[in-house]
Amino acid sequence: MAGYLSESDFVMVEEGFSTQDLLEELTLGASQATTGKAAAFFVADLGAIVRKHFCFLKCLPRVRPFYAVKCNSSPGVLKVLAQLGLGFSCANKAEMELVQHIGIPASKIIYANPCKQIAQIKYAAKHGIQLLSFDNEMELAKVVKSHPSAKMVLCIANDDSHSLSRLSLKFGVPLKSCRHLLESAKKSHVEVVGVSFHVGSGCPDPQAYAQSIADARLVFEMGTELGHRMHVLDLGGGFPGTEGAKVRFEEIASVINSALDLYFPEGCGVDILAELGRYYVTSAFTVAVSIIAKKEVLLDQPGREAPLPPPSHCYLCCPDPSLSAEENGSAPKTIVYHLDEGVYGIFNSVLFDNICPTPILQKKPSTEQPLYSSSLWGPAVDGCDCVAEGLWLPQLHVGDWLVFDNMGAYTMGMGSPFGGTQTCHITYAMSRVAWEALRRQLMATEQDDDMEGVCKPLSCGWEITDTLCVGPVFTPASIM
Ligand code: PLP
Repeated sequence: MAGYLSESDFVMVEEGFSTQDLLEELTLGASQATTGKAAAFFVADLGAIVRKHFCFLKCLPRVRPFYAVKCNSSPGVLKVLAQLGLGFSCANKAEMELVQHIGIPASKIIYANPCKQIAQIKYAAKHGIQLLSFDNEMELAKVVKSHPSAKMVLCIANDDSHSLSRLSLKFGVPLKSCRHLLESAKKSHVEVVGVSFHVGSGCPDPQAYAQSIADARLVFEMGTELGHRMHVLDLGGGFPGTEGAKVRFEEIASVINSALDLYFPEGCGVDILAELGRYYVTSAFTVAVSIIAKKEVLLDQPGREAPLPPPSHCYLCCPDPSLSAEENGSAPKTIVYHLDEGVYGIFNSVLFDNICPTPILQKKPSTEQPLYSSSLWGPAVDGCDCVAEGLWLPQLHVGDWLVFDNMGAYTMGMGSPFGGTQTCHITYAMSRVAWEALRRQLMATEQDDDMEGVCKPLSCGWEITDTLCVGPVFTPASIM
C-alpha cells in the first residue's frame, strides 16, 4: 500500500487485547520505583481515528474532510489521516511545513487563518498553497502584494455563544460587512472563491451550522453578483469528539445535510469542506499521569473548606457514605496529590474549556475500600494549577499512575515554563482489523480514477463494532 503510514509506525494490537491492556503493560514498565522518573505518556488508538473517519464519510457524504492540524499535530495522527486521504487545515507556517514534510501536496492544504503574518503568506505563495481565508480589508492588501494568485475564502461570523471555545469573538466578518469586503476584493483583483465559518469548538447546537449555511448562501449570492466565481463552502469544525457528547455527531450531520440540500443542493457545483479537529482525535488518546507527591491536609486548617459530600452518580465517589474515611472516625482531611502534568500542560482544557478531568483508576476500588476526599494538582508552583477537586478516591501512593481518557484534542504541544512536559511520549496502536480496513479503503480509492484523492465512504460494518480487540500479541513499535 502506497503511503504515509506503515506497520512500523504503531503497535499492532492482536485479537483479545485492548488499548487498556497496552496501557497497563506500559505503566508497569514505566514505574517510578524502577526508573526514578515520572513522565506522563499517551497511548493513541489510531484505529479509533479510522473509525471516526468512516463514520464521517457515512454521515456527511457530500463533505470533504480536512484535519485542523493545531488540534493535535503528532506524527501518528497526521500520517493516519494522510493515509485516509484527508486534506489539512493549517493556521501558520509551522503547520504547513509539518504536513508538507510528510508529503502532503499543496493542493490538499488550506491556510485557514484570517489574520496572517506577511512572511507566512509569502511562504504559502512560494510553496503553492492557494486556498487562504480572510475576514478584513487589511488582509486583502497583504495578499495582493504577497500572494496575488491566492484563492480567498471569506470567513463569516456567527453566534457561537453556546460553544466550549468561541472563535467568532476573534474571527469572522458580520453579514452586513460582507458586500463591502467582496467589493474591495473585486477592486483589488483578489479572487474570492467561497465562504467559511466556524461555529466554535465543541459546539452543542446543530442549528448553529444550519444558520451559518443559510448565511453562507446569502454571501455566495453577493459574491456571484459582484463577479466572483463562488464554489467553495467550508463548514469549519466544532464537531464533538467524545462518545458521550450532549449532541451526537450523527444528529449534527443530519441537520447539516438538510441545510445543504436546501441551500447548496446536490449538483450545484459547490465543493463542500469541513475542518475537523477534536472530532477525529479526542477519544483516540489516553494519557497516564504519575503521582509525584502526596500530602494529607486537615480540613480544620484555616482557609480550607469541607469537601462536598460525595455525589452518588460516579464510581470515584463514595458508593456508600459510611465508607468515607471521615465517617469511619478519623479526623476530617483531604488528600492532595501532585501530578507531573497540570493545567499549563496537557490539562489546559480545565482553564480553556471548563472541563473537569476525571481519572480512571487502574484497579477499580472494592466496595469495602474507604474513599477519601481528594484533589489533583499539577507541577507548577502556583495556586491555579488545580486539575480536579472534589474527587473521592481510595488511598493512592506516590508512583501510582492515574489514567485519563478523551485526551487527544488540544492537549499536546501545550507545555509551558510553569511546569509540565513539552512533549510526552506517545505509543501508537491499531488493531489488525482496523489496519486491514484502512488498507481496503486505500485500495478502493486507488482503483477509482475519478477520486482525485477525495475520501469516499466504504461500507464494511467493522467501524461500528471494533474496540481495538483482535490477537494476544503486541508487535512493538512507536513514534516519538
Ligand atoms: N478550523 C479553524 C479555523 C479553527 O480555528 C479550528 C479550531 O480552533 C478548527 C478548524 C478545529 O475545530 P474543532 O477542533 O472544534 O473541530
